[in-house]
Amino acid sequence: MTPPASDPNTSHGLGWTPIEEEAQRAARVLHPEEHTLPRPDRRRVLTVANQKGGVGKTTSAVNLAAALAVHGLKTLVIDLDPQGNASTALNIEHRSGTPSIYEVLLGEVSLADAAAVSEQSPNLYCVPATIDLAGAEIELVSMTSREARLKEALSAEAIDEIGVDYVFIDCPPSLGLLTVNAMVAAQEVLIPIQCEYYALEGLGQLLSNIELVQKHLNRELSVSTILLTMYDGRTKLADQVTQEVRNHFGEVVLKTVIPRSVKVSEAPGYGQTVLAYDPGSRGAMSYMDAAREVAERGSTANGRGGN
Ligand code: ATP
Ligand code: MG
Repeated sequence: MTPPASDPNTSHGLGWTPIEEEAQRAARVLHPEEHTLPRPDRRRVLTVANQKGGVGKTTSAVNLAAALAVHGLKTLVIDLDPQGNASTALNIEHRSGTPSIYEVLLGEVSLADAAAVSEQSPNLYCVPATIDLAGAEIELVSMTSREARLKEALSAEAIDEIGVDYVFIDCPPSLGLLTVNAMVAAQEVLIPIQCEYYALEGLGQLLSNIELVQKHLNRELSVSTILLTMYDGRTKLADQVTQEVRNHFGEVVLKTVIPRSVKVSEAPGYGQTVLAYDPGSRGAMSYMDAAREVAERGSTANGRGGN
């Protein structure tokens, strides 16, 4: 018999057997209403950024948001990528001409008017991105307060109108003006890192850009969360990358690691998050676990990293 692939998400030191742990996780996924998560002490705006393409930014933004939403926390996903992948994953209309983040950046439409409720959960909202956003990177250059357009659109009053506890901004794979807008509008950066060889390449550049934004545009910004994604337990490399990232970034790295899972990659094709597509899958459970960690870090109600 081949031993099971190593799972970095099981040994949380609570004395449960792996099967008990799995059963508890499944129960949380299947009955999320019985396992509410603490509301944050104050509204949290997280930018999901990494200029490297295909590392799991969109997948993490929509699935973390959905996990928080099904646990009773009102959450907004802002699709800031002209590819519109987050809108697709949440099955939100995003044909050219639909009120979207593009019109919001131009000041033509309010955030609430561009926000649509996702069918995944009445607590989950999305401001979609249409292909019109592709021109924004250039159009923004000549605009006044070009780095702060999104921040202005995300004023406390504008967010109050929707009434959300969490905002996740899904960035495009670049460090251009759209990503800068996202960093200026947020308090936190969440960096997804893919567990593979080139994962750390470009991270230095991302971090120095974040530092520049901190210095000149948004003192409040911090890298609060790193999430390891697409972990393949059959490879030594995945463990090496995981270890290296943990050694380097310490506490900021979530304990939960997202495994590589076919279900995760299939879900957007059905306009669903993996939580809706296959709630009992390892991918769904790990996003639930990651969302719990994110929520517990943002609330003093449960203590940082507790339970
Ligand atoms: P981009 O830079 O293009 O915006 P991204 O960083 O947003 O990409 P995703 O779109 O989330 O990355 O993921 C890239 C691809 O990998 C997608 O096809 C997605 O379905 C797949 N994927 C993401 N996470 C997983 C996972 N845990 N297991 C398997 N496939 C995954
Ligand atoms: Mg993406």
